[in-house]
This record gives sequence, C-alpha cells and structure tokens, in this order.
Amino acid sequence: MTETLLRTVRRVGTSGAPSDVLLVDGRVAAIAPAGTLDPTSAETEVVDAAGAWLGPGLVDHHVHFDQWALVRRRVDVSGCDSAESTASLLADVARTGVPDRVLVGHGYRDGMWPRPARRELLDQAAPGLPVVVISADLHAVWCNALALQHFAALVGRPLPAGEDGVLREQDAFDVTGALSRVPDDVLDGFVADAVEAAAARGVTRVRDLEMVFGIDRWTRRVQAGTDGLRVGSGVYPGELDAAIARGLRTGDVVPGTRGLVTMGPFKVITDGSLGTRTAAMTDGSGVLAYAFEDLVAMVRRAVAAGLVPAVHAIGDRANTLALDVFEAVGARGTIEHAQLLVPEDVERFARLGVAASVQPEHAMDDRDIADRHWAGVTDRAFAFASLDRAGASLLLGSDAPVAPLDPWVSMAAAVGRDRDGREPWHPAERLAALTAWRGSTEGGRVGVSVGDVADLVLLAEDPLAAPSSGALRSARVLGTAIEGRFTYLDV
Ligand SMILES: [Zn+2]
Repeated sequence: MTETLLRTVRRVGTSGAPSDVLLVDGRVAAIAPAGTLDPTSAETEVVDAAGAWLGPGLVDHHVHFDQWALVRRRVDVSGCDSAESTASLLADVARTGVPDRVLVGHGYRDGMWPRPARRELLDQAAPGLPVVVISADLHAVWCNALALQHFAALVGRPLPAGEDGVLREQDAFDVTGALSRVPDDVLDGFVADAVEAAAARGVTRVRDLEMVFGIDRWTRRVQAGTDGLRVGSGVYPGELDAAIARGLRTGDVVPGTRGLVTMGPFKVITDGSLGTRTAAMTDGSGVLAYAFEDLVAMVRRAVAAGLVPAVHAIGDRANTLALDVFEAVGARGTIEHAQLLVPEDVERFARLGVAASVQPEHAMDDRDIADRHWAGVTDRAFAFASLDRAGASLLLGSDAPVAPLDPWVSMAAAVGRDRDGREPWHPAERLAALTAWRGSTEGGRVGVSVGDVADLVLLAEDPLAAPSSGALRSARVLGTAIEGRFTYLDV
C-alpha cells in the first residue's frame, strides 16, 4: 500500500475551507477538515500543502509531443514581424555558432508581413549553412538554397520551391519529418525534458497527435523511466491498418506502460490552415484533403475497430464536411480546431456528440491574420462561448509546438481573448473561468472527491477566482501528481 497525506489544502470548486486529503494506492481515499487526518503508518508520505489549492490534474488535448520536444530547442522567431527581421535574428544566431548541421528557426507567421519571404534572405543570413524556418502552423517551411538541397537528399525527391524558398503542405511535412529524424536516444532525452516541463505546469495527461504512430516510442520511454505524464497516442490514416492490427481501442492501456500510455484517437486532417491560407472555406478557397465518401469510409473503418475519430477542420467548409461525416457514420468524436463555423453548424456539435477540441491561444496568435483573411466573418471564428451555449463540450489544448504546451496559456486565452496588453478580440466569445477549467482538467472535473484517481495539481491561487487572464497565464503550480505519485513538487 502506498499512502500520501496532503495536509491543509483548499479544494478548487469549494469556498476554500482547509482540508486534509489522504491518497491511498493512487486514489483519493479520504477528505476531512484540516488537522483531523493522521498518517496511518510510518511509511506515509506527508506533504504540508500550507493552504495550496488542490484540483484535478490538467490535460492538454492536442499536442505534437516529439515536435514540441524538438521545437523547445530551436530558434524562436515568433516575435519577428517581417521576413527581414526573421533573417536578421537567424544571422545573429549563426554568428554565435550553431550546434547542429542545420540552422532551424520556428514559429514564423507571414500573414501580416509587409513583404513576402525570399529565399535569398536566408542565403545571406548564414552563408554555407542550410537554414530552414518552420511556420507557426507547421504547414509551410521557408528554406535557403542549401536547405532545399539538403532536404531533397533526405526525403529522396526534388523539393520544388519558387523564389520565396517556401514549401507548403506535404512538402513542408516531409521536411519537418526529416528534421525530426534524430537518433532515438537523443530525441528521448529531449522528450524527458519536455515531460518534466509539462509536469511543472500541472499537466498529468496529453493527447499526442504526433504524425508518426507513437505507442511503441512512448512504451520505450516509460520503460526507460520517463513516467511523468499519461499519454494517449493517436494514429493517422497512413498507419490506420497497422493500428487496427494491434487490436487496441481508443483508451485501452498499452501493455508494459504501467497504465501511463493509452491508445489515442484516429486523427485525420481534412483541410489546411488559416496562416497558410489553405483552410477550406465556403467561398471555395482552400484545400480539402479528401472527398466526403472517402472520409466516411475511412472513419467508418476506424470506428468499427474501436477508434474514436479526431477530425482536423479549420475552415467553415471543412467543419461542415467533418460534421457531415460524423452524422453519416453515426459516431462520436472530436473536431480538432473548429476555428471557423457557419452559424448553422454551431448547434450540431452537441446534437451529434462531437466535442470541439480547440486551441484558444491560436486566436491570440492569429487575430490579425484572421481579421485580414477572414475579414467580415471573424465574429464566428474561435466561437468558444457560442459552442458552449449550444451545449457542445469544449476540450482545450495547445497544439504544441504551435503554442506552448501550457494549459494556463490556453485557459488565459479562452477566458480573456487578450494578450500583450491589447483589447479583447471578439469579447462576446470569452469563456467563463469554470468552463475553461473544465475543458482543461482530467475528465472535465471541477474539484477533487473521494474515489477519484489521484491525478492532481496543487496551485498557489484558486484558478476559478483569477482576477485577470494575465493571472491565469502566469499561474503558479506547486505540485503535480499522477495516481498520488508526485511528478513535480515545489511546496
Ligand atoms: Zn495539431
């Protein structure tokens, strides 16, 4: 029996009367007024929480974990507002020495740049070095001439880029894929660091939508001691057959992982993105990856094998199509992103049992781009409150590396729709703190009750009473536990 006694906590969702909470064998076994519970044996771990707020562990419902582990180490260019300033930041880095054979930047957003990207800006930034800059939404990569050669050799086919040096969609995915092919032991080290960082923000579980099916990688990591997160690992169409052959249904525990790794959803991408202007729109612009009949057939096969569909849809036309697919198949699942919706589709989420898996920080990153490229319709973009009012369940996520793997960033963006001192963007679509919290917790729970699995966070402040979105964004996490085992503790 393993036992932990949390002394003097205040429980999220209550008025804050101090309690003692006893955790036994990974579950919440008892809750009583502070000072009234005692350890039952000398082996009981006692944590004096000194009035910290106790809540269920936090979940990031949409991450690309290996990409995030890699991106955390790349040059962050997200603060650059032009092609020229991006190139000049990379030139500064190149001068101080690059540890790898390729200089990699991450996070450019060219939707508002005064002039488009040009290949030769990167040629000049670091002569003699392949330079590649990955767009914030991952749907484009901007390369210099050496990088185009370097990656063409790695992916084994020519990569046709114009004068801008930009590759889009599949070409871009192939380049980021090649960049991700670092030796397993190196990547696992990066991942172990990123797992620790996630635990330090209160995260107990992620839904990993990495593009290469990951249950074997995660099994290897857990067995090597990286055990600070629960991971649901999803699968894409290219490996659907292989996943079905494993016989695991969504939510099933992967053997040999101590319950930490589970089979994730079946993820399918139906359109592009806002930033790359490839989102499928009702005006006919953008790209659709599949015909309706093909999507239905694929989703039906996944559902028959017990896999829950997670359908990427960003443009309003893509969202209509995704909802049509769910309706035709008669399955429940999630729409990933759900960024732009025609008004008639808002109520279909709840009616069809389709959760909206949304990334609120994207609204902050992309508000100017949306105002430009979705001019006149942004009142129905990132329509979180409308979805909530219509009864849809909202799941919050980061889409890391697009935004940082930090649920407090997602919650702050959902609650405030503001950042950097700017006025809120479409404030009518702000979420109540309680809704954002439930969209970010284990099982949508508000508080902690006897019988719960002891996936928990300890917080310096009550997240439901945060005075501002800024306070949420910088919320202080004091402890994180999975089944009562602390993955992070700083009390
Ligand atoms: Zn994603």
